[in-house]
Amino acid sequence: MKTKKRIVIVGMGFGGIRAANALAGKGHEIVLVDRNNYHLFQPLLYQVATAGLEQESIAYSVRAMARKWPGTRFHLSEVIGVDFARREVRTDNGSIPYDYLVIGAGSVTNHFGLHSVERYSFDLKELTDGERLRNHILTAFERAVNEPDPSRKRALMTFVIVGGGPTGVEFAGALIELVHFVLAKDYPELSTHAARVVLVEATDMLLAAMPEQLRTYTLKKLRSMSVEVLLNSRVVDAGPERVVMHDGAVIPAHTLFWSAGVKAAPLAATLGLPARPGGRIQPEPDLTLPNHPEVFVIGDMAYLEQDGAALPMTAPVAMQMGIYAGKAILAKEAGTQMPPFRYHDKGSMATIGRNAAVASAFGMNFRGYLAWLVWLLLHLYYLIGFRNRIVVMLNWVWYYWFHERQVRLITRREVEVDANRSGGI
Ligand SMILES: Cc1cc2nc3c(=O)[nH]c(=O)nc-3n(C[C@H](O)[C@H](O)[C@H](O)COP(=O)(O)OP(=O)(O)OC[C@H]3O[C@@H](n4cnc5c(N)ncnc54)[C@H](O)[C@@H]3O)c2cc1C
Repeated sequence: MKTKKRIVIVGMGFGGIRAANALAGKGHEIVLVDRNNYHLFQPLLYQVATAGLEQESIAYSVRAMARKWPGTRFHLSEVIGVDFARREVRTDNGSIPYDYLVIGAGSVTNHFGLHSVERYSFDLKELTDGERLRNHILTAFERAVNEPDPSRKRALMTFVIVGGGPTGVEFAGALIELVHFVLAKDYPELSTHAARVVLVEATDMLLAAMPEQLRTYTLKKLRSMSVEVLLNSRVVDAGPERVVMHDGAVIPAHTLFWSAGVKAAPLAATLGLPARPGGRIQPEPDLTLPNHPEVFVIGDMAYLEQDGAALPMTAPVAMQMGIYAGKAILAKEAGTQMPPFRYHDKGSMATIGRNAAVASAFGMNFRGYLAWLVWLLLHLYYLIGFRNRIVVMLNWVWYYWFHERQVRLITRREVEVDANRSGGI
């Protein structure tokens, strides 16, 4: 008779929830562990930061998901290590024994050792990061209103974004539209067209993973929207009121946003396994750890090469790995074996602004309105929770028709945190 196994899944991100969904209701005990009690849809965080969405609309309660997954329970805990020999996950709430373990703790921002950048820049990783950045942006405009010095006023309205990948491009487009379409009306006393959004990219191209035709479209489109795109440029230093470039040039700016790279979540370094690029862990082709066929590593934490290149740290890779890990455990229990993991790339996309996006899928390239529509629909589809989908869609429709972003709120607590962080802007 089949024995009931305890399967612990660490991380309720894109990979973890897919693994749980594959395993639920199959007669095993599933223990979900995350330090947050929600799943976060990170790709829309930049819309929280640019006042387009409430943060609650891009997160979903893990317990609400677990209710629909028979045999599943949730532990709100920070995982601090794994004892592979004793088959125990160590958390800040005690240890959890496992028969199988799936680790998908994701990634954190990589500042590449630039301490001043780490200290003075913003990033988007956690749910609260979006609201913190929104508060900072709106506070900068409030301060600009009362700033008598024209150069400080301009610096308060200068936003430097580092990283020309999808996050940097999407944030730059959304921010310039916020300034030109919405804040221009909110702040009649400011010349908001003097505001600067500067996008800095180290290589000679934006959206490196996209075909050239779409990269060129993205560059032209952003420049036509008045985003200053600096290619072959790097930020090397930062302070509360300035950003220093690789050639010594200084951009007076009160806001630096960093989206130039990610590395494996700190949990990876505690596992005592060899680190691959970005501190990631390299599993076997079936996603298990060497000598531990009962432990799977998935998502951003996993370093896996396919056809000579490392798989990207993206949501589709994490989701496919999660589903695979779930099915592989069921196969092992049934006495069969899955073929090695293989990622099926269905394409990639990025939105630039109103009616403008780029998408590359099934060997075809799309840009402009059609790509933008597909981007909207796919993001709604992958967002978890019916209510979230409705709320997000309403916000988008409202913004599209009325040029208004509803969440233009500064929460007091975040203002204080912000002032402490930068010594006051
Ligand atoms: C701003 C932003 C925009 C993005 N845009 C896109 C996009 O447009 N398209 C795309 O494909 N990808 C995008 N990504 C990347 C995508 O979100 C990640 O590749 C994906 O989330 C990875 O999934 P994961 O399951 O590995 O980890 P995550 O989804 O990051 O989940 C990890 C989970 O582990 C939990 N956790 C971490 N450490 C611990 C611990 N020690 N103890 C307990 N729990 C822990 C976290 O709370 C989290 O819930 C974006 C990422 C960011 C940050």
